[in-house]
Amino acid sequence: MSAVIIDGKQVAKDIREEIKVEVERLTQQGVRPGLAVILIGEDPASQSYVKAKAKACEEAGIYSSVIRKNETITESELLQLIDELNGDESIHGILVQLPLPKHISEEAVIQAIHPAKDVDGFHPINVGNMVIGADCYLPCTPHGVVELIKRTGTSISGKHAVVVGRSNIVGKPVSMLLLQENATVSICHSRTKNLADITRQADILVVAVGKAHMIGAEHVAPGAIVIDVGVNRVEGNKLVGDVRFDEVKEIAGFITPVPGGVGPMTITMLLKNTVEAAKKKMMA
Ligand code: NDP
Repeated sequence: MSAVIIDGKQVAKDIREEIKVEVERLTQQGVRPGLAVILIGEDPASQSYVKAKAKACEEAGIYSSVIRKNETITESELLQLIDELNGDESIHGILVQLPLPKHISEEAVIQAIHPAKDVDGFHPINVGNMVIGADCYLPCTPHGVVELIKRTGTSISGKHAVVVGRSNIVGKPVSMLLLQENATVSICHSRTKNLADITRQADILVVAVGKAHMIGAEHVAPGAIVIDVGVNRVEGNKLVGDVRFDEVKEIAGFITPVPGGVGPMTITMLLKNTVEAAKKKMMA
């Protein structure tokens, strides 16, 4: 039997409706949530991500300010800009679109953002709080992944979750969040031997590698929930995931498409964190 397709676009739309109501309420109380997005250089993918984020803010009623800087900006100039935004009362969340030019340290930039405005959830303070299960901004893509799994109606507790990929922005945090949901978690990466033997044990399989179509039917157990985080451009500028969708959907219980799966959830969680930041500021 063919898998149920998880409609990330629809789930994201539903959550964004809830966010819009919350934004309206906060704005009436005198605090309109505000997000600053810093975009450096001309990378087409970054430009389109930033455009999508600004549009999503606008639709939700969130104030957004896109600050575009030339690639020649120095690290200290960028840190200075972040410092100014840290002190700006109208801005509750700050996001620096990655990747950065080679002469700027990603680590220095992430650490310069005040943890209370780190709506990407990348600052070591937020990462640490996430690991110990304390109050923090959850990183947007991993949070979106867990939300999509929950919305299948399946309980994560006690399930074997296998995550393929161990990056700091997706693989590691998604593994941590699944662990907090009481899954038994296996993390696979480029040195993992006999990958298919491990992934076939998964009740929940999250793939975040960045290699088009690397996961096929041979990697998936019947009935598994398969979440494809991968975004890869192939010939004709077409977007595809890391999973061979047509093949895997015949085996899996649930599967996310690319596009229209995890992608829309990432921006939605960014909006959610920005609203959260504004609420915290109001209560401070
Ligand atoms: P990274 O390149 O940072 O990490 C890729 C991970 O995959 C690494 O941990 C790497 O292992 C592992 N890997 C590489 N080859 C293999 C292999 N053959 N077998 C098993 N594991 C392997 O990527 P990101 O985590 O940043 O992103 C992953 C994908 O998700 C990309 O396509 C990206 O575009 C997409 N993405 C999508 C988002 C969305 O909103 N939909 C948001 C963020 C990312 P090792 O650590 O050993 O090198």
